[in-house]
Amino acid sequence: RARLSARGHGAGRLVVLAGPTAVGKGSVSSYIRENYPEVMFSVSATTRKPRPGEVDGVHYYFVDDAEFDRMIAAGEFLEWATVHNLSRYGTPRGPVDGALAAGRNVLLEIDLQGARQVRANDPAALLVFLAPPTWDELVRRLVGRGTETPEEQRRRLETAKVELASEDEFDRTVVNTTVPEAAREVVDLMSVPIRAQTRD
Ligand code: 5GP
Repeated sequence: RARLSARGHGAGRLVVLAGPTAVGKGSVSSYIRENYPEVMFSVSATTRKPRPGEVDGVHYYFVDDAEFDRMIAAGEFLEWATVHNLSRYGTPRGPVDGALAAGRNVLLEIDLQGARQVRANDPAALLVFLAPPTWDELVRRLVGRGTETPEEQRRRLETAKVELASEDEFDRTVVNTTVPEAAREVVDLMSVPIRAQTRD
């Protein structure tokens, strides 16, 4: 498989997977994690509380506000953002740089604000937009997972509306119809040489 990027032959490629809330980024990420071990995942730091089943250091580094502030001040983040006006999330820079230098492809599952920061700092990054098949399906998925309060659902749907409008800032769109198919498409995109990828 080709591993070309603007960093030079042999360097890994940085791929951002973003998309509106409840589109299934988490499910697609988990599927890739389990079935494509060659892809390295960045573990984000967040100030939100763990959900049932989430493991510190695996899904996120769960930190308090003071620690997040310290990490910002120390320049430890590749990007960070406040998501849904609620909690802060950030990508620790060190592990990503290390993996890319070692020739591995790295996947960041982050929000749109973070994707924009990566785009600004790294023109060689590939931005993949995960889209829902339809708006109704997005609403159904958000309500169906039942992990948010009605107030939080409302807030997330507001964010999703804005986020859906930003698809054209991305290099590629993958429609999440079924999780295995979407995962396959994302992984295939990761391994295409950069010269072969021109914007649509
Ligand atoms: P959740 O709380 O559902 O795990 O994630 C909420 C949102 O935060 C998702 O859109 C997710 O992609 C985003 N997110 C997770 N980690 C990061 C990160 O490191 N940086 C940014 N900018 N967004 C993140």
